[in-house]
Amino acid sequence: AKESGRNAVALFDPQMQSVLRERDALERDLRQALQRREFALHLQPQVDQDGRVCAAEALLRWQHPERGNVPPLNFIRLAEECGLIVPLGDWVLEQVCTWLARCATAGRPLHMAVNVSVRQFREPNFLARVEQILRQSGADPLHLTLEVTESLLIDDAEASVDIMSALAKLGVRFSIDDFGIGYSSLSYLRRLPLREIKIDKSFVQDIVDNADDAALVQTMLSMAKHLRLTVVAEGVETQAQRDLLCQWGCQRLQGYLIDRPSDGALWVERWLAASVA
Ligand code: C2E
Ligand code: CA
Ligand code: CA
Ligand code: CA
Repeated sequence: AKESGRNAVALFDPQMQSVLRERDALERDLRQALQRREFALHLQPQVDQDGRVCAAEALLRWQHPERGNVPPLNFIRLAEECGLIVPLGDWVLEQVCTWLARCATAGRPLHMAVNVSVRQFREPNFLARVEQILRQSGADPLHLTLEVTESLLIDDAEASVDIMSALAKLGVRFSIDDFGIGYSSLSYLRRLPLREIKIDKSFVQDIVDNADDAALVQTMLSMAKHLRLTVVAEGVETQAQRDLLCQWGCQRLQGYLIDRPSDGALWVERWLAASVA
């Protein structure tokens, strides 16, 4: 009785109440945001060691009429919890595939990377949806990379392997996002049809002054090399970071030093006009 009494107190805590109310309000807005076309996609390029653009990552933006720009971290989780991530994720994929087809048709083919959340991946018709979007858009599956996180492998890893393999057979690439911050054992790296890992920016941040972080990143790079995986370092902000990463053999770089994420449609126009290297 004492326990439940304490929980009851927690539940009616006024501060907790306002947090819950705020969450409800945000969820209500989120549900309408798709119809109201409040979402936008930004693109951020990835370059090789010579500075040539080899891909662009699509990043969601929500322009709320009153709240302004709501950062993804504040709404993606909520969209996952209320299931909205599924139609939202479809919209992202459709937009990106349309751009991919347009770039290829214009003779300026490009790779694009899309973030896929576990919730979306676990939908029973995820595979069919991706196939359908690829077909309808005319995008070449070879140009599409799906970024997934290690959390995909917590439970039901076998189902994930099957879906990934089916898409990999079409030519779709898989990248492990936020590599290294998951809990996970590394054994999955052998079992999955992976092409790439992305080193999280939290590791890249301090490589210049922190010997432990430097060692970790070098270890990831050498492991990836043995497994023949491409490595993208994210969050590259300084030339010193870039120099070290290149020296250690990191093939691809993404971060503010190279370019900030910016309006996707405009970025694609610049790419097509060949004014992006
Ligand atoms: P992420 O996939 O790890 O994306 C990298 C984040 O780092 C992005 O934050 C990007 O804007 C930011 N970033 C890029 N370069 C730099 C840099 O040099 N320094 C720093 N400090 N940050 C940099 P953003 O756009 O706020 O997205 C946050 C997260 O939201 C993403 O992390 C991803 O997990 C999620 N997300 C974004 N778009 C989507 C989407 O379409 N679907 C899903 N499921 N998740 C998404
Ligand atoms: Ca990502
Ligand atoms: Ca990250
Ligand atoms: Ca992520």
